[in-house]
Amino acid sequence: MYVRSLLISISLMLGAVAAGAGENPPLQPARAAWVDAARVTAAESEPGSWLVHGRTWSEQRFSPLDQIDRSNVQELGLAWAYMTGTLRGLEATPLAVDGVLYLTGSWSVVYALDAGTGRELWRYDPQVPRRIGRRACCDVVNRGVALWKGRVYLATLDGRLVALDAATGKLAWEVMTVDPEADYTITGAPRIVKGRVIIGNSGGEYGVRGYFGAYDAATGERLWRFYTVPASTTGPFEHEELALAATTWSPDSLWETGLGGTVWDAMAYDPELDLLYVGVGNSSPYDRVLRSPGGGDNLFLASILAVKPETGRLVWHYQTTPGEQWDYTATQPMILAELEIAGRERKVLMQAPKNGFFYLLDRATGELLSAEKIGYASWATHVDMQTGRPVEREEASWSKEPRWVAPGPPGVHNWHPMSYSPRTGLVYVPTLDNAWLYTPLPGFRHQPGDFNTAEDFHALGRFVKYYIPWCSPSHLTAWDPVRAKPVWRVEFDHPANGGVLSTAGDLVFQGNGNTRFAAYDAETGEKLWESPVGIGILAPPISYAVDGVQHIAVLAGIGGTPSLNRVAVPYLNEGRLLVYKLGGSAPLPPVKPRPAGVVDAPPLPASPETLERGEVLYSTRCARCHGFFAVSTGFHPDLRHASRAVHENWDAIVLQGAFESKGMTGFAGLLSEDDSAAIHAYVVDRALSGPSYFDMAMDWLRERVCIPTSWMVD
Ligand code: CA
Repeated sequence: MYVRSLLISISLMLGAVAAGAGENPPLQPARAAWVDAARVTAAESEPGSWLVHGRTWSEQRFSPLDQIDRSNVQELGLAWAYMTGTLRGLEATPLAVDGVLYLTGSWSVVYALDAGTGRELWRYDPQVPRRIGRRACCDVVNRGVALWKGRVYLATLDGRLVALDAATGKLAWEVMTVDPEADYTITGAPRIVKGRVIIGNSGGEYGVRGYFGAYDAATGERLWRFYTVPASTTGPFEHEELALAATTWSPDSLWETGLGGTVWDAMAYDPELDLLYVGVGNSSPYDRVLRSPGGGDNLFLASILAVKPETGRLVWHYQTTPGEQWDYTATQPMILAELEIAGRERKVLMQAPKNGFFYLLDRATGELLSAEKIGYASWATHVDMQTGRPVEREEASWSKEPRWVAPGPPGVHNWHPMSYSPRTGLVYVPTLDNAWLYTPLPGFRHQPGDFNTAEDFHALGRFVKYYIPWCSPSHLTAWDPVRAKPVWRVEFDHPANGGVLSTAGDLVFQGNGNTRFAAYDAETGEKLWESPVGIGILAPPISYAVDGVQHIAVLAGIGGTPSLNRVAVPYLNEGRLLVYKLGGSAPLPPVKPRPAGVVDAPPLPASPETLERGEVLYSTRCARCHGFFAVSTGFHPDLRHASRAVHENWDAIVLQGAFESKGMTGFAGLLSEDDSAAIHAYVVDRALSGPSYFDMAMDWLRERVCIPTSWMVD
């Protein structure tokens, strides 16, 4: 610390001298955000910083700060707030270094703020073309930046890796990491290991071939790339690991879909073992019989990979869901820790992927130590500890006929970060009970620019009401990783979860779709404090210190997967960073109500056949954003309340993309004029007719007529 302060002082003096000589350099601290491997490895010596995505290499998201604790958390109040100027989802983990916060918002915008006051130091907008929004399954979100030797590293929604000067926000370099014509996006935060920026991508639902790679932090030069699925069974293979992977695929696999396996979120690094861990996502299409006729495990889908960061060579892999067919990604955050298991100290990796099991692996070897259910999971009875493989239930296979399976694509645990407290020995996991009607789509053909899951969304829409009326779909679950058992659970009456922070004050912080940010007793789960934020929260909180004062920061802004976050959003979703401290007395920023919906649809007579076709097309092409049955619960426009101007310019918007600047791309490649007219007729009919069973289901939920979790048979 002393050496770094000295260097900063010298640099400032040099700057002053240069200014005196008339060169007039910008007045800013030199060596801003000077984060390197030694500093991250020594993170415990600066508990007031949050240097990397999960605070330390181990990504435990545990803050050693203990000024705020169970005895005084009631005195927590707002220190300051910063309005991000966004209306879409916010999922970023801010980084806190040397008095500056670095965070990201919707459309990959980066903000640098004074950590003590919230004053904006700079903002960088990478100008993501709004047409890219359609490629993002789950909103135009970004989960944060990485810092390295005075630079800020960002991966943009359209696939660029960008390096910025940390002091000014000026572009140092940028490289395109994906084929811009393919349906790739990036929402994850980069990690930097040994001067290499590691980044993957998203797009598994659309039909891309997944990979992750390393880029030189100084220049942006690509150093290596690891494909998670092969391009054929016969080669040539881009790297040797694909020869192994190829033995687990049918020669008749649907290669043209890319097959997925995207690496879109989780990474961690162990500097002693020199191993980089990444999580791999699901397949496209979901239907495994269609995807790889004749079966196979389909490596490296839904796997945890351990690779050497300098070469990208694989050291071990563990596949959580062989031959996965339910969107059971293993991209969920991973935590590294040292735990005593059966009397022996083990270096473990912990992950709760979507499939509902909590996995404990020896991270040196990949050996499975335990795997127990942390939520409602009907697809498998258990994981066989001899083989390390799940024992699937036959009725979970849906290639021939529709099947209800739990969990569905939302997963028991998704990207929302979990946190491990070494003080309590517990992992705090945002969990979700949900089921899904997986329905095969006869005659599936890969279509660029569209969802390519081979799943019938229209059928899902008809039954979506079953997804809704569960009393406590989401929870904050405290899990004992040694005993592989839950210890306590806080239940919420909505499905929109938030990320988690634990602290040395024995507090657990979490916000979620209920528009409140709360602190819980880390040992018991008792709620000790909450702040009525008024805006839904998805993002994980962090803790940092300025001038010796502990702060808690969290982004508020609902979003993510719109068709899944079935929470009412009666407010204008104006994003904000909220920063709390003991005795803070700043007022919460006001929340504006969402304007009441007005129906101004012109009568549009249509035959029952046209309405039926419009409903099918709407469910397939529109519902993921605008909501099933043309009922939007949240932050995308409810089309029943579209203005007369929208109705009059329907084709220009729907086909030609007149609203592209708002993120609504033209669908001319996927919809004909007849299709557009049928969808329009359906939307108008929905606007002018009475409530659907969707509306009624929402009413049941409001009235708390719901199915208790205990109803579910495991
Ligand atoms: Ca997925």
